[in-house]
This record gives sequence, structure tokens and C-alpha cells, in this order.
Amino acid sequence: MESLNPATEEVLETFDADDETSVDEKLQHAHETYEEWKERPIEERQRLLSKAGDVLRENKQKYAEMMTKEMGKPVSSAVSEVEKCAWVCDYYAEHAGEFLQDERIGTEPGVESYISYEPLGPVLAVMPWNFPFWQVFRFAAPNLTAGNVGLLKHASNVPQCALAIQEVFEEAGYPEGAFTTLLVGSDTVEDIITDERIAATTLTGSTGAGRSIGENAGGSLKKSVLELGGSDPFVVLPDADIEDAATTGAQARCLNNGQSCIAAKRFVVHEDAYDEFLERFTEEMESMTIGDPMDEDTDIGPQAREDLMEGLHEQVEDSIEAGATLELGGEPLDREGAYYPPTVLTDVPDDSPAGEEEMFGPVASVFRVGDTEEAIERANKTRFGLGASIWTQDKKQAKEVAREIEAGMVFVNELVKSDPRLPFGGVKDSGYGRELAHHGIHEFTNKKTMWVT
Ligand code: NDP
Repeated sequence: MESLNPATEEVLETFDADDETSVDEKLQHAHETYEEWKERPIEERQRLLSKAGDVLRENKQKYAEMMTKEMGKPVSSAVSEVEKCAWVCDYYAEHAGEFLQDERIGTEPGVESYISYEPLGPVLAVMPWNFPFWQVFRFAAPNLTAGNVGLLKHASNVPQCALAIQEVFEEAGYPEGAFTTLLVGSDTVEDIITDERIAATTLTGSTGAGRSIGENAGGSLKKSVLELGGSDPFVVLPDADIEDAATTGAQARCLNNGQSCIAAKRFVVHEDAYDEFLERFTEEMESMTIGDPMDEDTDIGPQAREDLMEGLHEQVEDSIEAGATLELGGEPLDREGAYYPPTVLTDVPDDSPAGEEEMFGPVASVFRVGDTEEAIERANKTRFGLGASIWTQDKKQAKEVAREIEAGMVFVNELVKSDPRLPFGGVKDSGYGRELAHHGIHEFTNKKTMWVT
């Protein structure tokens, strides 16, 4: 497995992938560790999680630079990502006990009835490269603390991050086998999910990977959580603060080099605000600093892989051929590395890639709508349903519009973001299940009904 720097095309390191025998050994070890781990008091699991947070903070710069070199995100956002991972550790270290305590139900006199939240077993996590630490910690922090053990199949282009995350848990003092990295390709995932030692599986990734993993998990009757892509609408109503909407909109589109499932991708703008918004938004997109992701001042680094950038460019070209107007960008940069510039499209046809697919890079589609009803219709005109952002000064109206939006998360006058205290996940082709908050820690538990007379 190759670790390759997408900014310089340099091969950083090469790793031997796990073969069938070593995968089998790791599964067996995880299975045995689970039997011991689930019996430990929750306070001890919380204490270890808190230590994992400390290890992350102590090695913040090292892990941030590792991410930047492996997948190209600007180093300043990589540092924030490590801090956020420490936050999710702190959060569950503080709250897991309360989330998992028995839930008393007053059924009838003389009966003690309650729900106990018990772990399920080893959980396979198939994870993507875009937030190579955060996506994993978002899964691992609640799940290890709930008494499950984790096996990570990380994206093939981030093996260094995958191994470093196992190191975080080892350094924090977790028993060997509580969190294990498997260096394997996606063709081995089916065998791992169907292995009887695996209890459940979670994926963050593309819809295609989601269908395949959902089928494998369903076929072997195992619980799954799927956090898939999005084509999030960013709805601007006429009374919105246009300057704020344009600035935040550009940030929301370009965050993480545009490679975020919850990035604003389709900008749905009321005709009364359209011209002003488009002008300011395009200016904001144009003003982004593109460059070396190791430079603190860089807003946009390279796309994570050359093939992903080529795919993105094809989507842009096909959309233009189908009738979209190019307002900004639209050509890979003529320099070393997989650099794609901020790009703005208008007049986007519904059946073009920008109209119906996820654009996983700094490419925005701006749509003009005549009224609020049409804005809602346009926002929902997608097979995805992850996040949505609504911009208006009228909070009452915003909440009414939010109810009509088919999405797992709606933010008003703010970009969509993940936060340990709030559930995260989508509807429609964006997947099912929730991560984070108390919802996330309950996903892979046996909610056991107890009735004692
Ligand atoms: P993938 O969905 O292909 O990769 C994510 C993870 O799933 C990786 O670990 C990958 O392994 C694994 N995987 C891929 N296919 C399968 C499969 N059939 N069965 C089991 N596991 C599988 O994302 P890509 O890297 O190819 O990116 C392509 C697109 O996916 C992006 O352009 C974007 O639209 C979407 N995506 C969405 C993300 C999100 O946050 N929701 C994150 C990343 C991508 P391996 O790396 O070995 O192939």
C-alpha cells in the first residue's frame, strides 16, 4: 500500500498489506480482547479515552502534518482536526457513563423494568481519506467506550494515518486488540463483514461503497450505519445577510479542499438576492489562496488523489457540455500536484453531473429560484439528504422551511458542521443511522429490555 503526497506526487512510504492469515489473527485477537474489554468498568474505559485525547493533543503537529502529506488538506485545518478528535474523546470520556446507564421505565407497581445498553462485539469501520482522523475517532470514541472493540479498514491512500490511530490507542494504554488497523483493500471487506467474529459494521464513504456494505451486512443480518455522500443545498432567501451568506458559503464549499460530505454544494438563491449573491460569492471563491498545503496561509491544497481530480474535472466538463455556464475556474491548475481551482457553475441542467451527482471538490452550482416554495423544491431535488443550510433573518420562516427539507441536519445562518454534542447522519442516499451525541453511542449496543418482578 502506497502513501503518496498529492501535492508533490512523491511516494512517502510503502506498506505490506495484511494477508489472509494476518487478517484472521487480528480478528481472533479482537474477538478475544472483546470478551475481556466488555467486562471492564465503564469508568476505566472512560479514563482510557480521556488519555487518548491527551495523546492526540501531545502529538497534534505530528499527526496534522501526516494527514497533510498523505491527502493534501491544509495543515491549519489538519491541526483543527486533531483538536476536534481530542474533543470527541473528552466528550465521551465525560458523558458515556450517563448515556449508557440503565434507563428506568415505570411500567407497573411491583415491577422493575429498564433498558440496559450492552455492547455488541467487534465492529468493522470502513473509513474514507477526507478527514482521516476525525471520521475514525467519531466512530471509535463512543464505540470503544460502549465496550465494543474496533477494527479499522481505512482508505487505501492513508495507511500512515491508519497505523498512527492504532498507535494513539496503544499509547493511551488500551489493551492490544481493542482497536486494530487492518491494511487491506476494499475487495476483502465482504469476507470480513460476513466473518462470524464481526458483530456490526459502519462506513463513511461513497454511495456505491454504501450499497455494497449495506448488502453484505444485510445478507449476514448484521447492524450497519452508513454515512454516505451529500449534495447539500445552501438556501439564500431575499432577506438574508448576503455578505455573510456569500463569505460563509464559499468557506462551506471549499473547506477541506471541497472534499467534505457536508460541504454546501448546490446554492439555491431567491431571484431577488441572486445577482448580488452570485457576484459576492464568486469573488469569495476567487480570493481563496491555493497552494502548498503545508503553508499555514493556504486555503486550498491539492485534491487527495490524481484520479479523484480527473473525475471531478470530467463532471465539470460534462455539466458544461450539457448546458451549464462556467462563471469561474473549471480547469486543473498547470502545476505539479492534483490542484483544482474554486469553480462556479450556473444554469446547471438537472440531468448533468453537477445537477444530480456529488461534486467532491471546490465546485459550486448556483441555482436561481422564484420563491420560497421553489427553493424548497430545488433543495429537495436530489437523491441525497445529508445537511442543509438556510439563510434568512426570519427565524420563524427558517424553521418552517427547515421542516420541509429532506435532510438529516439543517443549520440556519450557519454552515453545516459536525459537533460531538449533536447527532450526525442523513436520509435518502446519504445513508442511515446516526453518529455522535447519545444517539451515536447507542447505535452498536444491545438495548436489552429487562423486566424484574
Ligand atoms: P470510497 O467510498 O470508494 O472509499 C471510502 C472507503 O470505502 C475506503 O476505505 C474504500 O476502500 C472503501 N470502499 C470502497 N468501495 C468499497 C466496496 N465496494 N466495499 C467495501 N469497501 C469499499 O470513496 P473514494 O475514495 O473512491 O471517493 C469517491 C467518492 O466517494 C468521492 O468523490 C465522494 O463523492 C465520495 N466520498 C464521500 C465521503 C464522505 O465523507 N461521505 C468520503 C470519501 C468519499 P479503498 O480506499 O481501499 O478503495
